[in-house]
Amino acid sequence: MNATIRSIDVGNSEQVIEFVWSDGLQTKLPLFGLRKNCPCVECRGGHDRMGTYELQLFFVDPVREYRILKAEVVGNHALKIHWDDGHTTGMYRWELLRSLCEAVEEARGKSGEDVQG
Ligand SMILES: [Zn+2]
Repeated sequence: MNATIRSIDVGNSEQVIEFVWSDGLQTKLPLFGLRKNCPCVECRGGHDRMGTYELQLFFVDPVREYRILKAEVVGNHALKIHWDDGHTTGMYRWELLRSLCEAVEEARGKSGEDVQG
C-alpha cells in the first residue's frame, strides 16, 4: 500500500469522515461504523481480533450519533481519534483506513451495478 492520506475532513453534522488519498481515492465513512470498528484492544476484545473489522457496521442504521472532537495525525502512519463518548485510545493506521475505504467503496459499487445491468 503506497497511497498516503492527502486530506481528512470531519463532518460531524453529516456523521461522516472523508478521506482523500494521494492516488485520488475519495471515500466518506460513516462515523458510527468507524467508531464501532475502533482498532484498540479494548474495543476488539483481545489481541486475537486486532486487525479485523466488520464492514457491515458501515451500512447499518446508527443506533446513536458519534462525534469526533479531535482527529490527530500520529507520526506518519496513523490517525488518533478523540470521540465524544470519551474514547481516545483508538489508533487507526493508514493501512486500516485504506482497507476500510476500499471495502466500503467496493460494497457501494456492487449495490449500484445491478441497476446499470
Ligand atoms: Zn477502541
